[in-house]
Amino acid sequence: MHELPATEDLIKTLDEESAKKNISEIKEVHLVIGELSSYIGECVQMYFDLLSEGHTCERAKLVFTYKKARFKCLSCGHEFDHDRDFTCPSCGGEGRLIKGTGKEFLISKLVYDDAVS
Ligand SMILES: [Zn+2]
Repeated sequence: MHELPATEDLIKTLDEESAKKNISEIKEVHLVIGELSSYIGECVQMYFDLLSEGHTCERAKLVFTYKKARFKCLSCGHEFDHDRDFTCPSCGGEGRLIKGTGKEFLISKLVYDDAVS
């Protein structure tokens, strides 16, 4: 359910970008979702379909990229993606979550048409 406010924010951001860059139609919105953010692409898509009507992003295709959380080894400082466990692939030490990673909900790329003047 928390995808609803996130999707509202997303459309607001896209409207602002459209105004700023004189965009007539957004074709694609590439989004990065962190695996710990608990956002589900299908839910974002569902709300997006409902809320985007009448906006420049109305016919935009959403492209999701999921990003893993990053861990840093307490022993050797090696940074690695969270896979199955928290063990450092380099030395076998214990990894600690790097704060903020894996919780992303970001626009990574926009594909759009400029307004015809
Ligand atoms: Zn290590």
